[in-house]
Amino acid sequence: MEIDKNKIKSQYLLKGVPVSPGIAISKAFVLRGDLVEIDEIAIEDLKIDTEVQKFKKAVTKAKTELRHLQDKVLHRVGEESAKIFDVHKMFLEDSVIIDETINYIKESQKGADYAFYQVMEKYKNTLYQSDVEIFRGRISDLEDVKKRVIRHIQGDRTEYLDKFTGSAIIVSTDLTPSDAVKLGKHKAFGFATDLGGRTSHVAIMARSMGVPAVVGLRTLSRVIKDDDRIIVDGNLGYVLINPEEATIKYYRELQERFYDIGKQLAGIRDLPCVTTDGKEIELSANLEFSDEVGTTKSYGAKGIGLYRTDYIYLAGEELPSEEEQFTEYQKIAEKIYPESVIIRTMDLGGDKQPKSFLIPPEENPFLGWRAIRISLARPELFKIQLRAILRASSKGNVKLLYPMISSLEEVRECNIALENAKSELRKEGISFDENLDAGVMIEVPSAAVMAYEIAKEVDFLSIGTNDLVQYMLAVDRGNERISYLYKHLNPAVLRIIKQVIQHGHNAGVWVGMCGEMASDPFSTLILLGLDLDEFSVPPNSVPEIKEIIRSTDYHEAVRIADKAMEFEKASDVERFMLKVMRQKFKELNF
Ligand code: PEP
Ligand code: MG
Repeated sequence: MEIDKNKIKSQYLLKGVPVSPGIAISKAFVLRGDLVEIDEIAIEDLKIDTEVQKFKKAVTKAKTELRHLQDKVLHRVGEESAKIFDVHKMFLEDSVIIDETINYIKESQKGADYAFYQVMEKYKNTLYQSDVEIFRGRISDLEDVKKRVIRHIQGDRTEYLDKFTGSAIIVSTDLTPSDAVKLGKHKAFGFATDLGGRTSHVAIMARSMGVPAVVGLRTLSRVIKDDDRIIVDGNLGYVLINPEEATIKYYRELQERFYDIGKQLAGIRDLPCVTTDGKEIELSANLEFSDEVGTTKSYGAKGIGLYRTDYIYLAGEELPSEEEQFTEYQKIAEKIYPESVIIRTMDLGGDKQPKSFLIPPEENPFLGWRAIRISLARPELFKIQLRAILRASSKGNVKLLYPMISSLEEVRECNIALENAKSELRKEGISFDENLDAGVMIEVPSAAVMAYEIAKEVDFLSIGTNDLVQYMLAVDRGNERISYLYKHLNPAVLRIIKQVIQHGHNAGVWVGMCGEMASDPFSTLILLGLDLDEFSVPPNSVPEIKEIIRSTDYHEAVRIADKAMEFEKASDVERFMLKVMRQKFKELNF
């Protein structure tokens, strides 16, 4: 959905990361309460023991409270969200933190709340300074634990959150999982936070609650007041504070359209994704968390074209065991049956740093020890994942995908590892799909150039434009300052995509796309005309893409693609496609 910048006027417009789709328009409830008030009060010698006991009791109370909360979340939201509280419990079981606080009380002769506050602030600063996103992502957990324990030390402090009575958008520096659960009592209309990225807890929570959310807004909570009117655009990542009436009206229309698409779904959800002249296109969904399979189905996706297994590795302290992975993969395969799921082996490294094993700090993590490079260097880890995927494949609806392949040798090594895992399972008498298809993500330029040779070794190719664009154009995909250069309609990118599709077809395999470009309506007709076989998109993009494909004659798409390929500049391709889409899809308001 494209927004018309001329139509949006407000006191502030901030751009963050959209993590849960939809549009919310309401007043803001600003969750300050970050800080529990602490006084640096000196205590007498005789009271030191009392303070230590007070602290210990508070920790025990906090642990009990967390257990109850975790149970509640498990029932209300699901396992994935409930697991988050394991991290909180871990902080409270950390003997270093406990001993350090007790020593602080004894040595400084300060109250228990002050001592715990100081110790936790020290660890918070360490996390802040970390270059590793996943560590920074733990700050909100640490804050949550800090406030919880201090609240118990200080006694019956009125809960800031109790003031929330619903019907508002929650704005906060960050949102801890327990905040979100408390807020769940009275449904929030949306979430907007200063911190966070796609892997942050608020993103997970918002998606499971089906509420629009934008994170990574940096200064939002500082420029907003309670009851300011606010718009959260979870589709494009905008947050508008005190918008003008005309802007609200414009957004209400967009909101209506968003709902309307939802309503239209009922109509096209079960219809095939086929062009007007009968060319069938596979339209599937990308999936990050197993409990979202239902959502992908409700949007009318045909199967899962990319399941990112990375989050299983990022969620816990320990490496996920074969059994844990198998349970997760099998659950998805069963839920999506008879459609299929493409399970991508782990794509860790870069900004995805697991706690369970160390990826040493690197100068250029995105060009470093990532994804398949880790899997091949750590065959014991790779084998566990391959065995788990194979075991989940016994119904015949699982496919395997290797990420970040940059050479033919790597594909061959992967296939050898796969064959080894298969023969082990055969020897153990464990069943799996003997014909399981394996594919390669084409997201590194060298793999794109060698796509024909690579395709000969596998059953399909899936183009990962998120990385392919960044590596082709040498533009960091997460860097705001140079984002004007990050364009998938750049002619260089279009040419390489065309070649990859042709190489794949010449080698006799199908070619799909699971990068964000597949969900950009301005690219759909070009990709269709270039003969892309499969589009795998975020679930809420399925209806729009299906609508475009179902309204188009394949030969018309070929003509459009041919014309688009003649341009020499990204801006010309974009202008051309805008014109085409406006003419062709008046009702979609491009
Ligand atoms: C891609 O690079 O296009 C892709 C789908 O993978 P990820 O976004 O997980 O890197
Ligand atoms: Mg990628």
